[in-house]
Amino acid sequence: MLISLVVPCFNEEDILERFHERVTDEMTRLGHAFQLVYVDDGSADRTLPILQELAAADPRARYVSFSRNFGKEAAMLAGLQHAEGDAVVIMDADLQHPPELVGRMLQEHAQGYDQVIARRTRKGDRVTRTLTARAYYWLINRLVDVELVDGVGDFRLLSRRAADAVLELTEYNRFSKGLFAWVGFPTTTFSYENAVREQGRSAWTFGKLLNYGLDGLLSFNNKPLRAALYLGMLLMSLAFVYAAWIVGVALVKGVDTPGYVTLLVVLTALAGVQMVMVGVVGEYVGRIYYEVKRRPHFLVKATNTRAHRPAQEPE
Ligand code: UDP
Ligand code: MG
Repeated sequence: MLISLVVPCFNEEDILERFHERVTDEMTRLGHAFQLVYVDDGSADRTLPILQELAAADPRARYVSFSRNFGKEAAMLAGLQHAEGDAVVIMDADLQHPPELVGRMLQEHAQGYDQVIARRTRKGDRVTRTLTARAYYWLINRLVDVELVDGVGDFRLLSRRAADAVLELTEYNRFSKGLFAWVGFPTTTFSYENAVREQGRSAWTFGKLLNYGLDGLLSFNNKPLRAALYLGMLLMSLAFVYAAWIVGVALVKGVDTPGYVTLLVVLTALAGVQMVMVGVVGEYVGRIYYEVKRRPHFLVKATNTRAHRPAQEPE
């Protein structure tokens, strides 16, 4: 049985050699045949030359290097396309996904699970981030069709058939957490203690996280559109009630003209609501725009390997 390890790398020059050593040691200890598929996501530092050195010294190391930064989702996709293994493990290059857990994943996989997820605790995270995450997952699980769990990231093992299923999903906007959940198959989860990043720094800024959260919300269904519809209907009914009230008062007490403030508040509130709704619609239209262009998910600048499961030809 061959195990592929898919490793997206973006500016990881400080840690790559150490990562490679730790992982190869661990895999050798486990006694499984393995290959490493490193994906250089358009790094601006020495990541690519380091990968080339690693590959020259170790035939188990493959690399695919992008022409620019396409994002981790694209990097994972490229890794999956190039992975030949009977099982694929996706892990970060920054050693926040402890290589020692791969053995445990393989054990669970041997029990018949197609997806083995390592879920991190939020130890060492800032309180604000933990709380926003909790609120986000509470909300999103009410809004999307697939179940998303806090702490469940991309550190997971996929069986061959689960990996192939993920590769069948060719959408341009990739929200992997959701794609993996959507694919299904027998899945099991275990927790591990979060390790603080050893070197370099996380590329996640608040803005990126916010966009990522929105992607999760919008990638999986059209419930936000429906919410906009309901909100519109609710506001319309309120307006009717209020209109009837004003007319009633005018009939009983005669016409009376104050209400400038009410008018202003209602008008601005409605304008706001309308803009939000147009925004929601626009988000979906934008997504359709990206999908219909059918651009490739990434462009390769250098590689020492061939895609095992190449991207499907657009019709
Ligand atoms: N990564 C990537 N492309 C990007 C950003 C990150 O391939 O645009 C890789 C990065 O090299 C690392 C993994 O994705 O291996 C996770 O990134 P990071 O550690 O910055 O995220 P966090 O651990 O904070 O979720
Ligand atoms: Mg990290």
